[in-house]
This record gives sequence, structure tokens and C-alpha cells, in this order.
Amino acid sequence: MYAADVGPQYEGERIRKNEFQVEFGGPDVSHKGELVTVKGLGEVEHEKITVSGPDLKDLPEGFSGPLFIKVEVAGEELEKDLEAVLERRIHQYINYIEGVFHMAQRYDIWIRIHKNSFKKGLNSLEQIGRILIDLFTAELPVIEKMSVEFITDPAKVQNLLVEALKVYKERDERIKGLREEDVDEFYGCVLCQSFAPTHVCVITPERVSLCGAINWLDGRAATKVDPEGAQFAIPKGNLIDLVNISYDNVNQVVTERSMGETTRFSLHSALSYPHTACGCFEAIVFYIPEVDGFGIVSRDFAGPSVTGDPFSTLAGSASGGKQNEGYLGIGIQYLTSPKFLIADGGFNRVAWMSSALKEAAVENLPPELAGKIATEKDVQNVDELTEFMQNAGRL
Ligand code: SF4
Repeated sequence: MYAADVGPQYEGERIRKNEFQVEFGGPDVSHKGELVTVKGLGEVEHEKITVSGPDLKDLPEGFSGPLFIKVEVAGEELEKDLEAVLERRIHQYINYIEGVFHMAQRYDIWIRIHKNSFKKGLNSLEQIGRILIDLFTAELPVIEKMSVEFITDPAKVQNLLVEALKVYKERDERIKGLREEDVDEFYGCVLCQSFAPTHVCVITPERVSLCGAINWLDGRAATKVDPEGAQFAIPKGNLIDLVNISYDNVNQVVTERSMGETTRFSLHSALSYPHTACGCFEAIVFYIPEVDGFGIVSRDFAGPSVTGDPFSTLAGSASGGKQNEGYLGIGIQYLTSPKFLIADGGFNRVAWMSSALKEAAVENLPPELAGKIATEKDVQNVDELTEFMQNAGRL
């Protein structure tokens, strides 16, 4: 009934550069995004699917451009708190479609349509909208009405992104002030095991998911609406490592959910039993032995980092659901956490950040450190970084 086959067996499919018919978003496209909004029952026209701008069939083979996916949902029992969790399902369900790849989240999506699926007849975004509505309403009966709009018009995508960024920020603000010590439960997520089969995200009030899309409140909302879903509660148990912050029951659950691959998680260390990652992280923390400090680079940073490795190379070391000491995938909001890398020295140990990331985090940097963390504007390699650190009195 669909132009392409649909099912969880297609999750994890990769589509290489020479294989895609059309690509939306990704590192070379500045404007892209997706947003789910909960509306009143009278405000959503059920099953309305719109494509604003050129559709798949109108675009030349090999096209790469902007896309915004705007989803509106309504239901008697549907709460606004669920928006972020529902939004993450876009990633899951698009990856159910044969020959369609979806990566990352929020303002940073990356979608590819395989040439073979296009040739089989998947030639309109409307078809993807139909599949999304069918999957969302079948798996989440709490959704009574749903509409989907795909926007490919560059100017419209740009405007929608500005508005969406405000919404993401509001969602992130809600969690401020809540501490790990205040709660008995953390939340886990294994939605990305299709790409990294042993990866488990542990989400605490002070550690947003590495995709940045799910905070502790979202995790709690998700487990209420779909107890059998990819997000689940983790009673935290006892704090067994005060330095690295490790809880016995968290370790137990991670062991089970990672099929024994990972038996211990430090919640706030990049060096000792670090949290694993799939590939959806917004930024990567990486250890630089020459300065005994860390670099942090965000996905949108195009050039080589201070060690000479670009984001894509560092991502190879940080991802795959394996613990790799010295590499940590993080959500950008984690930079605002009072427990940010607390086991490793926090910002006192950060030597280099990509400049856009540093600007985003500037409010949270200790004032005495703000001028002492280098960016690509200050140094180009590790030798220059070492000199920078010496001049700053940090080495
Ligand atoms: S990155 Fe983590 S929290 Fe985000 S969807 Fe994947 S598994 Fe879930």
C-alpha cells in the first residue's frame, strides 16, 4: 500500500553520498528542523498533509537542501509535556521507511532518500507524511488528530527555524534548578539501538540526553504515556561512586539494556567509564593529552578541531555504543548543568571549544575562565593551544 516498505527492520540503514536521490539538512545545509506542537482538538485537521515548496519529484537527482517538518497533534489526553518525546519519534518512524535515513533532531536534522526507493515510487514527501500519521496514531492512541507539513521553501524554513529555536529553548528552561539528589528516578532511552545496538542513554535532571531532545521531564512524560516504549524509568539506587557519580541500579539497568556490553556508567566523566553514545550527539568532548584538558566541538563546526580531527572523525571515536575513554557525546544543554564533567574538573579542564559553542555556553562559563578557553579564532593546532594555555597561566 505504500510506495516503500515500512518496518523496524529498516532502522539503522545507512545511505551513502552517491546513493541518495535527495538529501535534506545535514552538515552542508544551514537551515533545517522539525517541531511537534500539541494543539486543541478543534485546531488540527486530521490527516492533512501538505508540501510547501518543491517536492521530491521536482528536485534534481543529488539535490541537497533545506527542510522543516511541522507536525501538529491533538488528543483529549495529550499534554504539552509530550511534545519533545513525540518529536523524537519522527526520527524513529522515518527510519522505519525502506530507503529513508533520518539522523539527529530539532534544528539539526539530516534526511536522505535512496535512489532505489525513489525509483520504486517514493517520489513525494506526502507519502512520508502518510506513513508518519499511520505509525504515530497506531502506536500512540493518545493522538486523536495529526497533521504534517513538509516545508522545502528556503525562506519559509528559515522563518520556521527562528520560531522553533525559541520553543526548544523554552523546553530546556523548564528543567533548570532540579538536581539529581532531588529525585528517586532517572530515565533511560534505547531508541537509537537501531544504529548503536548496545547504546543506552541515561537522562537525569542534570544530564540531558546526548541528542539534546529529551530532558528528565520529557523522560518522565514519555514513560507515563507509553510504558512499553523506548524510554523507561530507572530507580537510581545507591550512589556508589561519589567522585565519578555512579549509581548501583543505573549500572544494573545499563548492563541489562546494553546486553552486557557496558556494566558501569559514570554520569559526569569523560575519562572514567564514560556514558556511551549512538551518533545523535549535538557535541563531542574529547581529551587532549598535551594539555591534560578537553576540547568540545559541536556538529555544526565545519573545520578541523584543534587536534586536526574534524567532527566526523571524532564522532567515529565517540559513537557506536562503546565506551571509549576520552570521548563523550553530549547534548549542548549539558554545558549548563551544575554537574558538567564534575568528575573531571568541569570547565576548569576545558582548554578549547569551537567558537559558536563557546558563545552559546558563555553565560555558564566561570567568568575567570571565559578568556582562558581557546577557540579556532585563537589557535590552530595543539602546539598553539599549549602556548595559549601557558600564557593563560593554566599550564
Ligand atoms: S540519543 Fe538517546 S535519548 Fe536521544 S533518542 Fe537516541 S537513545 Fe533516545
